[in-house]
Formats: sequence, structure tokens, C-alpha cells
Amino acid sequence: MSVHGGSLAPPSAILLGNTVTLACLLLLSLQDAAPRPDEVSAERLHATLIELCAEPRLAGSPASRRAADYAAQVFFAAGMRVEEARYGVHLPRQTGAELALLDARGGRVPLDLTEAGLAADPLSRRAQVPPMHGLTAAGKAQGRVVFAGRGTREEFAELRTRLGDALQGSIALVRYGGLYRGLKVANAEAAGCTGALLYTDAEDDGAGRGAVLPDGPYRPESGIQRGSVFNGDGDPLTPGWASVPGARRLAPNAAPGLVQIPSLPLSAGNAARLFGPDGRPERTGWLEARVSMRVDQDPAAVEIVDVLGWIEGAVRPDEWVLLGAHRDSWGPGATDNGSGTSAVLEVARVLGAAMERGWRPERTLVLATWDAEEWGLVGSTEWVEQHRGELREKAVAYLNMDSVASGAEFGASCTPGLVAALEAACTAEGLAVPAQLGVPGGGSDHVPFLELAGVEVAGFGFHGSNGVYHSALDTPFVVETFLDPDFTIHARAARLALRLTMDLANADTRVDGVPAWILQAEIALAEIGLAPPQLADLAARLQDLQRAAAAAPPAAPHRFGRCFLPADGGRSLLWRSSGYASAWFPEVAAALADGTDPAPSIARATAALERVGTRFLGVADQADLSRPSGR
Ligand SMILES: [Zn+2]
Repeated sequence: MSVHGGSLAPPSAILLGNTVTLACLLLLSLQDAAPRPDEVSAERLHATLIELCAEPRLAGSPASRRAADYAAQVFFAAGMRVEEARYGVHLPRQTGAELALLDARGGRVPLDLTEAGLAADPLSRRAQVPPMHGLTAAGKAQGRVVFAGRGTREEFAELRTRLGDALQGSIALVRYGGLYRGLKVANAEAAGCTGALLYTDAEDDGAGRGAVLPDGPYRPESGIQRGSVFNGDGDPLTPGWASVPGARRLAPNAAPGLVQIPSLPLSAGNAARLFGPDGRPERTGWLEARVSMRVDQDPAAVEIVDVLGWIEGAVRPDEWVLLGAHRDSWGPGATDNGSGTSAVLEVARVLGAAMERGWRPERTLVLATWDAEEWGLVGSTEWVEQHRGELREKAVAYLNMDSVASGAEFGASCTPGLVAALEAACTAEGLAVPAQLGVPGGGSDHVPFLELAGVEVAGFGFHGSNGVYHSALDTPFVVETFLDPDFTIHARAARLALRLTMDLANADTRVDGVPAWILQAEIALAEIGLAPPQLADLAARLQDLQRAAAAAPPAAPHRFGRCFLPADGGRSLLWRSSGYASAWFPEVAAALADGTDPAPSIARATAALERVGTRFLGVADQADLSRPSGR
């Protein structure tokens, strides 16, 4: 809305006065119409969670499609434009599995691999996803069992030194926790093991921590942690490009990041059978047990669907603020990620009510529910790959909600550009701002936005300890009984999401972390373990930038991260995740870890910084930034 001045005659001035008054009233009433955090309803969040979590939402399954339809209905009812993005992807179904103890005379004692549910919670016993590892290898293996601790590279290297060639052909028994499970299986494979069994130790989230379900929130002996063992993101057969119809696809044996040995998740009870009467040994090494194992799969492609709701911005439609949560799960998925999905749908409902009152966001808002996150951020990665060019040009921020109400402890992380907005929203919601708002680690849907499109990202939620992670026991029962009986934690998470989204939807909100990005990069560089002369160019370019950014702040500072995207369409040169962890200057760090010459990666990072200087801080032509940062 605009009010024209100029050479108006006195009678019109009176009219103008009236128009201004009218405009002000209209603006005021539009502000009144804006969504308010107190419109978030704990009761509605509870009802949404029940609706979503009536069955496991395994990616590509009919149950997952029913949840997708539900999300689409909520977005549609809220007055949003609904987008359903479908991709045919490689997520092999497990069609059978077996694990048997072998006795000295060649006899076989099969172990029960199912996960017992709770009598107190009928949902936990219904229509389970079989205990499995996503994107593991199909096949058979047989051999002596070796206990490999947490399954780190160092533990396997030490085992190799101690046990020698005997390790070849053995089956690794690995304790969950610490590093990402896909790295555990890959480390076992690299050490020569032909199969891997990953178990949940009672000390980590079971009886060693407190009362187990149904008497407390911890994992009973029969509880099992499913999960992906893929060491990559997105559809494994289309790494770096979208799995749209007609796309080039790799053969599964040529796909990077897929493990080549079969693996299975085990309950603590079954692990105890392998450990024998003395229980888990103090140190890694041979167990008495010999086993045979088998994993059967149907490798046919499955269709996944991301469901998004769009509200076009009234002032800056070409600036996008995105809020997303993954919708798929391994079990009923109440905490992971019914909580985040319910929160996103609740934000949609509150926005919808405000739009009925005449409110519009100034920037465009995009609410997303992703599919197949659990298999390796597949749905979000494919969507980002498909829209990479537009996201580089338009995205202001991506906010992620994954497992946002699994306890009472608030936590958050974000890239430097969102620190100010996140701190302000936390303060307004009465939440203590976490002392360290570092860049989020890997393992959820913010990763492709940051690494493939250079978008500023944030993640936040309430966490606590429990034993239902990736289990059939992750149901509304555990939430209602132990984790958030009155749904106030869900409501606080949704309120923060709404407030932060609203703040970022305001065209005046500046997303600017350029000085902080540069400072953090300088700190990371000092810790990287190289002699200063080798890094002199890189460090000098960072200092140039620091000075230039202070002298003339860039017009679109939220695009800073985009300058670090390599010209070949690969991942960010500034920051990258690996499993649950992450690294600054990832290619330099990887070269140092592998013992190769870091000079080429240092040169690539230095060139990226030069691009920042000449094309970002010094040049007014912002359109230039919309293209991938190659020349
Ligand atoms: Zn999750």
C-alpha cells in the first residue's frame, strides 16, 4: 500500500489526511491480524500427534502416503498453495532376516529378531517395521563374533593389530552410541568383517539409566534401534542431482557411500546371548559365539513424497523463509518426528487463521514435511537438488524441527547469520539462549540447504534422555506418560517456530552473520593443524573480507554461504557434515586426515574467498549471486 503526496490542492490534502488515517488504520488492523504465538494450542498439537502416529510412517509405504495426505490437507485448509514433490528412489525393503548361533556340532539356534512391544501400549505391538538397517547390503555372512566396542576406526585398527588376519571373515558386534551407525558398519567392512551387528547397550539408554518402559522412559531389554547405515545424503543412485523422471541413475554397486556387508540391529537381550554368561567384556576382542546371518531385500525403487505449503510474500515474494520437519519414521515415530511434524502443522494452522483475518507475510513462507529423512535426508536432499538454482537466489533461511519435544531441556544451533534472530525469538519466548549457538552438526534436513545451496540454517527443540529412539516404542504413550503429558513442551517448540518464522518473514529483519562467519572460519583455521605459512593466503583473504565487510556491509548478507559452493555443483567448501559430526574447511581437513597434500583444497577455499570479495562485498550486481558461484 502506498500514499501519494505531491502537488495536491488544499481540499485534496484533507482527503490525503483521511487516506493516511485510513491507511494507518488498515496497517494497524493488519498488524492485529498477524499470527500470535498464544494461538498455538497444546490440545491441537496432542490431537495432531495422535493422528500422525497411528502407524509407522516408513518412507514409501502406504502409511507414509496417508500421513502425506494429512499434511497436504492441513496446508490446503490453511489457505496455502500445496506442492507435492515425488521422487522414485533407491530404498530397498527388507523382506527377511535371520541370525543364528552356531554350536560346535554345526547346529543352529535362530534368535528372535522381532521387537516385543508393550501390553500397556497396543500401538507398539501393531504393524511394526521389521528391525532393520536402511541401505545396508543384502546377503549372507557366517563367522566368529568379534566385539568391536563402539566401532571407531581406532578400535578396529587396534583389533587388526592384535588379531591379525583372523579378523577377516569375522562378524563384528558393535555397541551403538558415539559415531553414526553407518560409519560403524563401514569401519567393520574396512577391517575385513563380512557382517555387522549393532546393539543397544543397557548402559546407554536402558536399565543402566533408569526405569524401563512401561515403568519409566528407558529402553527395555527387547527394544531395538533401527536406522540407516548409508554414508551419504539423498538417493544413493543420484548423488548430486535430483531423482526426477528420466534422471541418470548409478548402479547400486557403483553408488558411493553404500556399505557392502550386511548388517542388523539387535536388542540388548540378543546381544547378551552373543556375549555369553560373563556379559559384555571390558575390552574388545573375540567372543566365544559363532553366528550365521542373512538379510533379504527387495531393491525395487519406491516413491517418496515431500509435502510443502506456500504462502506468497506480499512485499518480497522472491525472498523465501522455510520451516521444515521430516514426516517419515521407523516406528510410530512420536518423538522422531511426530513432534516436529505436529509443530510445523500447528504453525500452518495459526498462519491459516491469520490469513483469514487478512494477514500476509512480507516474505514468502514455505512449510515443508520431508519424506525419507531416516534413510539419509533423502526427501529434502532431492528437493534441494531439484531447486538448487532458485534456492541460491531466493532462500533467506531454513529452520529445521527434528525431535523437538523428547525432554525438557532446550537446545538450539544455527549458522552465524541467524544468531541475532534466534536469540531475539528465544528471549521473546522466555527461553534461555544457549551459550554456544554453533553451526548444527549433521544428521537432519538442514544439511542439504546449507551444504548444497549455501542457505543460513537453524535447528532447535527440547531434548532429554529416553530409550525409544528408532524403536516401535516411540509412540504417543511414552509422550503422554513420561515426556510431555500436558503437551506444553510441544507448544513451546511450536511457539518458538512460529515467532522465529514470523520475525524472518518481516522484510526488515536482516539475516547478517558475515563478520561472525569470518571470525569462526579464522578460529577453525587456527585449529586445523597446519603450519601458518601454508595457510597464509587463506588467512589473508579472511582478513581482507573482515575489513571489507566492516567498511561496507553487503546488501544481501544472507547469501554469504553461497560463495563457498564450488563451480562444479558440489558441496560447500566452508563447512560440511559427516555422520553426526561436522568440519570447517572440510576438504582441507579431509586431505590432512588422509595424509594427502592439502594444497589443492586450500587453493579452492582461497579462490572461494576471493569470489566473496570481488562478487559479494565489492560488487552491487546481486543477480550475479543467483548463479552457482563458478565463473
Ligand atoms: Zn528424526
